[in-house]
Amino acid sequence: MPNRSNELTAWDRDHFFHPSTHMGMHARGETPTRVMAGGDGVWVHDISGKKSLDAFAGLYCVNVGYGRTEIAEAIAKQAHELAYYHAYVGHGTDASITLSKMIIDRAPSHMSRVYFGLSGSDANETNIKLIWYYNNILGRPEKKKIISRWRGYHGSGVMTGSLTGLEVFHNAFDLPRPPVLHTEAPYYFRRNDRSMSEEQFSQHCADKLEELILAEGPETIAAFIGEPILGTGGLVPPPAGYWAKIQAVLEKYDVLLVADEVVTGFGRLGTMFGSDHYGMKPDLITIAKGLTSAYAPLSGTIVAEKMWDVLVQGSDELGVIGHGWTYSSHPICAAAGVANLELIDKLDLVTNAGETGNYFRQKLADAVGSHKHVGEVRGDGMMAAIEFVSDRDDRVFFDASEKIGPQIAAALLERGVIGRAMPQGDILGFAPPLCMSREEADIVVEKTAEAINAIF
Ligand code: PLP
Repeated sequence: MPNRSNELTAWDRDHFFHPSTHMGMHARGETPTRVMAGGDGVWVHDISGKKSLDAFAGLYCVNVGYGRTEIAEAIAKQAHELAYYHAYVGHGTDASITLSKMIIDRAPSHMSRVYFGLSGSDANETNIKLIWYYNNILGRPEKKKIISRWRGYHGSGVMTGSLTGLEVFHNAFDLPRPPVLHTEAPYYFRRNDRSMSEEQFSQHCADKLEELILAEGPETIAAFIGEPILGTGGLVPPPAGYWAKIQAVLEKYDVLLVADEVVTGFGRLGTMFGSDHYGMKPDLITIAKGLTSAYAPLSGTIVAEKMWDVLVQGSDELGVIGHGWTYSSHPICAAAGVANLELIDKLDLVTNAGETGNYFRQKLADAVGSHKHVGEVRGDGMMAAIEFVSDRDDRVFFDASEKIGPQIAAALLERGVIGRAMPQGDILGFAPPLCMSREEADIVVEKTAEAINAIF
């Protein structure tokens, strides 16, 4: 009998085209295949039985933790009763309709309807189409440009890959040039002028945004999209006063705000939505990962009342809205969503994300914050990051070729903890399941300190 693990590794190298992976190195066997096989709470294990504490919750998505039978049973029940029916022309299921109500009940009070997709990327595609439709119905067809931020992450599609402000997602793809513009990242640690206070830097970001809007012509700018806290771009919380100052500019020029809450939706920052946490009043909210804790793929675009009224007017003028996915509100995914949101309430995971998240970040700062190669320990809620620097006092960064972030993530994995080397800069990111306990947080901190000391 061939060893199953070896067999899978060979098939993987020959047939599996992995996302966000070095294709050549993986096909040549220079990067490992890890066949994951099971999980429970914050722990996962691979096919050889090796356990790891997953301090990134998969891709910041397994918010309730692994192995939740309540969700697995809800999925199985739905699959037995009715595995699929579409949502076109007014169809729904108990699960999809109930889930839409649960989402709106939890969303900021001015939100009205939810349109379901399957991934964060397709939900952001939906956002852009709705924004363009909205402005056409309002009779301002020139108001179409979308402003995103450098280091923002909004997906990997043609439009959403363009919105994403990270080089690796643009390299050699010749993405068509949709009307997308990028503005300054709210990255206080990497600001050029170190004499600026956080408030001054927030004002500087708002001024840059206003300059861009004026240079392009406010009549051409439709929307601004941002994650409440930058995620894939480095887990960077907004500097003090940032969102209030940005929103003042958006209001002045009648520009819509899209809060991309794919990561922050459903509790990660210790509030149900990141918009609640930072006082944002978005016109559209993107949701995905935490909606089902990734037990099944599901995303959504939550639409504010103000936009909904215009969209309805559009339908009255033009007929059926020409935008639909076969799997929109797929019943199995919706059933997973309902069970997931019930579990988040039952276990009070939003409170735990805030409280244990604060504990975790404080412990991390105590353990490694004064290390000579740690420039900053930052985060919010159940999100934390350590940014490594070659010189702490002069804030000099390592050359990307040194791959310090990936080396530390690998050293951490060897010690049984999964963190993530973020794609740009030497940043070790953590976004554990919201159910992480203080004892588990202590393990992450201890192993992180060991991993850092092993590399430097
Ligand atoms: N928006 C944000 C903020 C994300 O972090 C991600 C994925 O990490 C996406 C959108 C894209 O989601 P998906 O990978 O499900 O397409």
